[in-house]
Order: sequence, then C-alpha cells, then structure tokens
Amino acid sequence: MEEQIRKSDTLHVVGELAAGIAHEIRNPMTAIKGFIQLLQSSVKEDFSTYFNVITSELQRIETIITEFLFLAKPQALKFSNQDVNVIVRETADFLAAQAMLNNIQLKRNLTKNDCEIFCEGNQLKQVLINIIKNAIEVSNDGGFVIINTDRIDHSFVKISIIDQGPGIPAEKLRRLGEPFYTTKERGTGLGLMVSYKIIEEHKGYIEVESEVGKGTAFHIFLPIPREG
Ligand code: ADP
Ligand code: MG
Repeated sequence: MEEQIRKSDTLHVVGELAAGIAHEIRNPMTAIKGFIQLLQSSVKEDFSTYFNVITSELQRIETIITEFLFLAKPQALKFSNQDVNVIVRETADFLAAQAMLNNIQLKRNLTKNDCEIFCEGNQLKQVLINIIKNAIEVSNDGGFVIINTDRIDHSFVKISIIDQGPGIPAEKLRRLGEPFYTTKERGTGLGLMVSYKIIEEHKGYIEVESEVGKGTAFHIFLPIPREG
C-alpha cells in the first residue's frame, strides 16, 4: 500500500517534470520555425527540398511533444453531455482535406438514434483523429474509410472506423496501444496509446477487428448515462 502511494507520487513528479521539459522545447521550436520561414523567403537558390525536410521534421517533433505532453499532464477536462454524431461530423470535416490529399474518401453513416453521451469533447475528437488518421495512412489511393455511429440498446454508443488497408496480423493486434509500438518509418507509436487511455477514462472500450489483406475496423464503445 505504502509502496503504491510512493509510486504514484513519483509518477506525479515525473509528469510535472516531463510537462515542463515539453514546454521548454516548444518555445525554441517556435523561434526556429519563424526563422526558417524568414530564411526560406530570402534565399535565392532553390533549396525547397531542404526546407520541406526541415519543416516536416519540425512538424514531427511537434507531434511527438503534443502527444507526450498529453500523456504527461492532461489539460483541464471539461465533461459535458454531447451528441456523438456532432463530434464525428466535426472531426470528419476537420480531416477532409487530409483525406482528399491522399485521394481517400471519408464516408459517414450516422445513426438517426439519439446518441448523447457524457464526455470530454476535445479528448474524444483526439481519439477519432488518431484512429481516422491511421485508417487514412494505410488506405490505398482511391480507397475509402467509413465512419459509422450506432446505438447499442440504451447502454452504449458505438463508433466504428473501417478501412480497406492491409489489415493487422493476429500476433500484432495484441501490441496495439503499447507505447512507441509503430510499424511506420515515421510513426510515433503514441496515437493509439493515448486513444486507449482516453476511452478507458470514459469507462468505454475499444475492439479491433482485422483481416490481413481485407482491412481493419476499430470499434469504440462509450457508455450512455442512465436516466435519472
Ligand atoms: P503510429 O501511427 O505513429 O505508428 P499509432 O499508435 O497510431 O502510432 O499506431 C500504432 C501501430 O498500429 C501502427 O504503426 C500500425 O502498425 C498499427 N495500426 C494502427 N491502425 C491501423 C490500421 N487502421 N491498419 C493497420 N495497422 C494499423
Ligand atoms: Mg497513428
């Protein structure tokens, strides 16, 4: 028991420290980005390939920091009653440009049933962004990603993200959500970990169905609050 208390104290300190370091890295990053932009507009020769690499690497650092910061120190949480369809629509609109750039169609199939849940809207959006991005990233040119919502009795709202990507072999399914588990050259392996954590905090769960060569479906189950 005492051991446990001490452990969570240490975790707390580590979290604070990590958050502090993440902020410290962010400030100089902003300066670097600004000067790179200045440089880019003032050099004559065509260094655009170099600038593109620098910009995308900076973006990568920023993604890692954002995901890390989230793990280290969650922002102030605002839970409220929200319509899952509204959250899905807003997230899909937000990702439409990225899907289009990859020539992927984002299809929606939203339930007509009432699907209000008690949730942290921004966090839930973050989960959807992480999972839909993964789906877009594995999709082939011209493919599509389907986002479904459904109500399971009066107990759960189910959000499904279905792709026609390469699928995930059974032995790798178990590793999803493990920190830093990635099969991508430029992956962070943090997106699913953060997502699992958020859904857990909502007393929900995620199921993954996958068939190699056919595609993958992520099903997110979120509890509907009982009346009264
Ligand atoms: P990252 O996207 O940075 O690799 P994630 O935590 O988002 O990190 O995903 C971890 C790993 O899970 C991915 O590298 C990939 O191997 C696997 N994965 C996630 N979603 C899918 C999907 N829709 N289809 C196939 N593999 C997936
Ligand atoms: Mg990802």
